[in-house]
Amino acid sequence: MELDFSEYPAIDHHAHPWLDDLKDLSMEQFVARFNYGGLTAEEAKDPENIIHAQNTTMAYQIVHRLAKYFGCNATLAEVLEQRNARSRRDYFQYTKDLMEDANMEGLFVDDGYSEVGVTRVLRRRSYEDFEKACPIWTKHVARIEPRFQDAIDASTGFEDFVQRFDASIDEAVKGGAVAFKSIIAYRSGLNIQKPLEADVRRDYVWSKATRSREVKAIRDWYIHRVVRRCAELGVMFHIHAGVGDIDIVFKDCNPGKLYDLLHDTETRSTKIFLIHSGYPFSQEGAFFANSLKNVYIDLSEMLPHASIPGAVERTMQILDMAPTSRVVFGSDGSNIPEIHWAGAKIGREVLQLTLAEFVKTKVMNEDQAHDAAKLILSGNVRRVYKL
Ligand SMILES: [Zn+2]
Repeated sequence: MELDFSEYPAIDHHAHPWLDDLKDLSMEQFVARFNYGGLTAEEAKDPENIIHAQNTTMAYQIVHRLAKYFGCNATLAEVLEQRNARSRRDYFQYTKDLMEDANMEGLFVDDGYSEVGVTRVLRRRSYEDFEKACPIWTKHVARIEPRFQDAIDASTGFEDFVQRFDASIDEAVKGGAVAFKSIIAYRSGLNIQKPLEADVRRDYVWSKATRSREVKAIRDWYIHRVVRRCAELGVMFHIHAGVGDIDIVFKDCNPGKLYDLLHDTETRSTKIFLIHSGYPFSQEGAFFANSLKNVYIDLSEMLPHASIPGAVERTMQILDMAPTSRVVFGSDGSNIPEIHWAGAKIGREVLQLTLAEFVKTKVMNEDQAHDAAKLILSGNVRRVYKL
């Protein structure tokens, strides 16, 4: 039994801008995309690191799909040559061709960058700049942490900080943001509590003096504050859950750690998306999407980082609990447009295999499988964000 979802357009619910200066891509920059957090310039000098980056299943499954798309041999060198020839000729047209081939309709773009010192940096490209360069429509997802740090840096005291922070949240929505995203999993972790005001004020002073990542009380404070404000502003809340690059607070990145935040009745009026589903701890996230009325699961990062059979297994586990109406497709593409492209290509294949298994085992019939795919690829996002 085979299913074909290639005709159904995808909306990428979680992506980052691709960068203009990577239209001419070196081998080191190319292979660096195939592991979490990439390779630093120093690491890329070691041929052993290059070998490992080439031998992830992510690299295998993307490189041979690109080779097929370009009509060349599935070697990194040939694929890179073909890619650079096209992107040098006309980068905009190249990205347009990729998005068309992936049947990608639009991108939700997280405008985040690394606002404090970490070993792996996400480079800055403004949403407005990327919007102009992107061949398909985009929606703005405003990252909280840079807005928090800017408000701390510019403030003259705690009250002034609160005013600046609140204003930056409201301004983002006035400017068109449809959601806020937090990467607190990279700062103080997902075990988010309701802090005492004295602790928040103490953290303010410490943060102002040091720009520290680990000011847990004030970070927990801003999460609660923004989640509540999202309901008033009519926008969604995105939270990174699961692994990422090596700067993640590993002991507190499992979505199960979100229990106290999600269980709090004050957060229930906001639609909360667990970005990356909590991968590889996806099953824990899916429990919340079943038992709470406001929690959704985003499949980015797993697609296209995980191998196809690995992603099928996890998607099946997610759908053991999360209704198909609460799961959304995403790529977590960044730096180069090929990751966004691969996310949609591989994402559809993963859904085809997962839902075919459900049809085979009579969990659902074929029509229901097609309906579920349409929901996950774009329908849920269209419905929830009223697009
Ligand atoms: Zn991301």
